[in-house]
Amino acid sequence: MRDTLSLLDKISFPAIRRGKLDTLQINVGYRCNQSCFHCHVNAGPTRTEEMTGDVADIVLEFLERRRIGTLDITGGAPELNVHFRNLVRGARSLGAKVMDRCNLTIMEQPGQEDLAEFLAAHTIEVVASMPCYLEGNVERQRGKGVFDASIRGLQKLNALGYGRDPRLILNLVYNPQGPSLPPSQVSLEADYKCVLGEQYGIVFNKLFVLANMPIQRFGSTLITNGEFEGYLDLLRDAHLDVNLDGVMCHHLISVDWRGFVYDCDFNQMLDLPLLHDNNRVHLSDLLDDDIEGNSIRVAGHCYGCTAGQGSSCGGALNEAAE
Ligand code: SF4
Ligand code: SF4
Repeated sequence: MRDTLSLLDKISFPAIRRGKLDTLQINVGYRCNQSCFHCHVNAGPTRTEEMTGDVADIVLEFLERRRIGTLDITGGAPELNVHFRNLVRGARSLGAKVMDRCNLTIMEQPGQEDLAEFLAAHTIEVVASMPCYLEGNVERQRGKGVFDASIRGLQKLNALGYGRDPRLILNLVYNPQGPSLPPSQVSLEADYKCVLGEQYGIVFNKLFVLANMPIQRFGSTLITNGEFEGYLDLLRDAHLDVNLDGVMCHHLISVDWRGFVYDCDFNQMLDLPLLHDNNRVHLSDLLDDDIEGNSIRVAGHCYGCTAGQGSSCGGALNEAAE
């Protein structure tokens, strides 16, 4: 894979600082049943990195000690980590909202047949990747058979009340196929609701529209195709200062499978950790420390968060920008 960080590091980005921490995003491992082209984690079936029970215990201790309201669990396919369900139960018993970034096809993997029921029983918010409502586009990006399996997964979640019961939130995630800015979240959400509703009877709450980050597998392909500079120019030209206040690193930290801390998931994938005296910060170091007001490690990829309508783990920041 081509190195993107050395290119991104040369691009300046406005200085930003942390606000009040309210969300702990944890990456519990890079193993995934899929190997999507745009995956910024470079996840796949052969990855072996996985959060251990000891680190999972620190996650729960951190949630409790720091009174963090939201645990956002990602991967890979997070459900493949053997500690996933204990983390969910522990966080819910502390009263935290839990989000599962689910690829939908995982529900058909051996041992995951009861996953949907488990998520519903613990009122877990499901954030599901669905890069298009058209089969061909989904399969080009995510692999053969993924569209049908995703539709079956959504129908299963709907049958349990997801998207209908106000306690069972189902949000979908869209990202463009290639090096272009995503379309308007408002109009694309309306299109998704129309097509998925009419053709498959699927309902969901919101569509999160995200820009592709020029890192990992996607960034490497851009370099190979000679499109990296052009995509960075596109993001930079579309940057809006108004989006700076909404970027997710203001209120979130991202924790890797070993327990090391980053300003966001993208910095985690670029290996841009939080540092203290030039040493990596571990989540256990922050049980009593407050990092509000600290500066955030930025580089060229950050324009992926501030271009156009903006992009965060909760979708567009500024829908009016379209
Ligand atoms: S399903 Fe998600 S984590 Fe897995 S390869 Fe695709 S984008 Fe990456
Ligand atoms: S890429 Fe990460 S650090 Fe940069 S603006 Fe986005 S959330 Fe913040």
